[in-house]
Amino acid sequence: MKEFILATGNKDKIKEIKSALKDLNIKIIPLSDFKNFPKTIEDGLTLEYNAVKKAKEAAIFFNKWAIADDTGLEVDHLNGAPGVYSARYAGKNCSYDDNNNKLLKELESVKKDERKAKFRCVIAIANPAGDIKIAQGEIEGFIAAQKSGNGGFGYDPIFFIPQYNKTFAELSCEEKNKISHRGKALNEAKKILKEIE
Ligand code: IMP
Repeated sequence: MKEFILATGNKDKIKEIKSALKDLNIKIIPLSDFKNFPKTIEDGLTLEYNAVKKAKEAAIFFNKWAIADDTGLEVDHLNGAPGVYSARYAGKNCSYDDNNNKLLKELESVKKDERKAKFRCVIAIANPAGDIKIAQGEIEGFIAAQKSGNGGFGYDPIFFIPQYNKTFAELSCEEKNKISHRGKALNEAKKILKEIE
């Protein structure tokens, strides 16, 4: 069975990615299983750049296949912010809750139909030499007026999907993966991985 390093330290992403790829004949090893990997600095201006950098550095360091995910929330009213800076929107070392509170505050006086937002996910797959293939997915929704639900992670409690009349945090991991930016990107990634496994 081919081994893939999952080049992220984010436990929530690991859970979703493992669940979405569970029917493939591959072994996924998260970076957290290794102590000696020098953390990738995510200094790119785009999701694509950061995803490629994370996958490439892990693949070359371990001389193995690697998968990385970079995701951003793009809010129309904020001209696409926080985008590539979604993880540290409320500052360095901030929590998911800090980010959600900051975004809710920014949009406090903004009407419902002007609260459109989009999640974009870029998955990079690197071979042991660092050569890259890319898969992408996105989903549109709205930023809710308040937090709702206990599932998911990150901005999920405030990301509202009209078709479901729920936030992402009100869906199970499987339900979220069926429609989410990451689920869609991973479906594309599966086509690439099936040729490799
Ligand atoms: P990065 O891709 O590791 O740079 O993460 C970007 C940030 O976006 C994370 O820290 C989360 O706050 C948020 N994020 C990423 N994926 C999701 C998701 O599926 N739902 C909600 N928030 C997410």
